[in-house]
Amino acid sequence: MYKRMYLLRFTKDNIDQPLICDLVKKYNLDFNILRADIFMQQDGVMMLELAGPKKNVHAGLKYLKKNEVKVETLATLISRDDEKCFQCGACTGRCSTGALSIKRPEMAVIFDPEKCTACGLCVPVCPVQAMRISLDKSVGLDYQRVEDRGQAKEEVAVPEIN
Ligand code: SF4
Ligand code: SF4
Repeated sequence: MYKRMYLLRFTKDNIDQPLICDLVKKYNLDFNILRADIFMQQDGVMMLELAGPKKNVHAGLKYLKKNEVKVETLATLISRDDEKCFQCGACTGRCSTGALSIKRPEMAVIFDPEKCTACGLCVPVCPVQAMRISLDKSVGLDYQRVEDRGQAKEEVAVPEIN
């Protein structure tokens, strides 16, 4: 399953449309709203995780853009919970960059974050959810409250996503 996080910027003209529900109905996607700053007849921002077949995710994003929603992909980081990992090796078959590899003869599964492109393919195959996706805060997420609500521009802390 393909899973990515996006920042969606709505306008006051499309904010009342059931566009997120349409992602489920029309494109069979799962979604998780991580943060939302949505009010009627005002511009709004939503941090959303989308999951489903890759082509459906892309089709869903195209649908949002067609409806004048601005879509930004959020930078993500992959990490491994070494306490959970029991070295089964299932994830290594999904990793094309060599970030996950088997060291022989010990047969230890090595994770090298330097080689990881955060494609996320290893995450769903791990039987104990040891591989995790989180937001890359070092990229400087521009999640900001909308100014025309009469508030000063304010940066909002990015939530931890496990
Ligand atoms: S996210 Fe992609 S590149 Fe990174 S370890 Fe997993 S499969 Fe390899
Ligand atoms: S699939 Fe999960 S438990 Fe198995 S080696 Fe990879 S991270 Fe460890």
